[in-house]
Amino acid sequence: MTSEAIKVNLAGLSLSKMQTFFTDLAEKPFRASQVMRWIHQRGVTDIQQMTDISKVLRDKLDQVAEIKLPLIVDEFHSSDGSQKWIVEIASGSRVETVFIPEADRGTLCISSQAGCSLDCSFCATGKQGFNSNLSVAEIVGQLWWANYKLGGFDSGNERPISNVVMMGMGEPLLNFDNVMDAVNIMMDDLAYGLSKRKVTISTSGVVPAIRKLKDFTDASLAISLHAPNDELRSQIMPVNRKYPIHELLEAVEEYMDSLADKRVPVIEYTLIAGINDHRQHARDLAKLLATFPCKINLIPFNPFSMSDFKKPSNSSISNFRQILLQAGFTVTVRTTRGDDIAAACGQLVGEVNDTTRRSSRHKARSQVLSNGKAPGASENLAVPAETIV
Ligand code: SF4
Repeated sequence: MTSEAIKVNLAGLSLSKMQTFFTDLAEKPFRASQVMRWIHQRGVTDIQQMTDISKVLRDKLDQVAEIKLPLIVDEFHSSDGSQKWIVEIASGSRVETVFIPEADRGTLCISSQAGCSLDCSFCATGKQGFNSNLSVAEIVGQLWWANYKLGGFDSGNERPISNVVMMGMGEPLLNFDNVMDAVNIMMDDLAYGLSKRKVTISTSGVVPAIRKLKDFTDASLAISLHAPNDELRSQIMPVNRKYPIHELLEAVEEYMDSLADKRVPVIEYTLIAGINDHRQHARDLAKLLATFPCKINLIPFNPFSMSDFKKPSNSSISNFRQILLQAGFTVTVRTTRGDDIAAACGQLVGEVNDTTRRSSRHKARSQVLSNGKAPGASENLAVPAETIV
């Protein structure tokens, strides 16, 4: 047998898949726990360094398995302490991973796809079109690398990463199987041991995937809502044409009800000047969510080339927030971090092939919207809503 093509990548195996792997090799399943710890707790990628495994078994493993992580090809350090890594995946595309340190936590924002097919008009990733899904090892590998770079594998060091958000490039629920395995590895006590409250899957609203989520994970959920009604949401998020707001909220409520503990989802709302940041939008949002337990996170839009959308003014952010607070919601306003390294929300671009020539259409659509005229139902949609899974 020639090895390279068929070696199993141990970095991408969840505990149950790792146990099956060892059972298939006629080895004891507890070997899986040892290997998980070596890779994800000690940062070891050379099988021969796994010294509590016999030399005979290490040699056997070397024949059939490997530990392969994506490549880090560049890194940037922001003056505010944020860091961004450019990660090259097997398809040759590049995605971005961002670390945001705060006083009481360290949050890692992870990508799940190279590019994205959903074409939200306020998102730099969306303008590139879709290139490829990341494998489990490429998703977990971003956490591995960040942990390595931040000294998290050194014994005695405090864990630098307490929270993971699947809010980087791509729609996580359109890479369902790989994202499920990856978040479950992140939460496994034999790996990174992150709390289910601190691993968040952020979705634009792929309803069928939200409905099956409870059978695979109990991670936390964030919803990219960004508009208080279907008309506006469909204009800035084509996915809404397939899965309107009431279906989305219903599916999210079902998932939250299925969790053993009491948790509420986070509603993400990007404020774009003149598009969705009026007082009336805030009042409509308060009405829409009146009976929907949640926290609301307001994200001032970060301008990027290829979009004519603008940052909201401080007064519109403050008015919007005030209306929601008065209506009784818990509201946070996301501070822009990593602006000097283009690591802020919605700015992640990476480097993928634009297979859809979406960039020019994207620019046209944001121009139309910022001129105050909405596109018609079938106008300027790079991906017809019915093609969305
Ligand atoms: S906001 Fe998320 S779902 Fe929308 S285009 Fe960007 S990456 Fe895709």
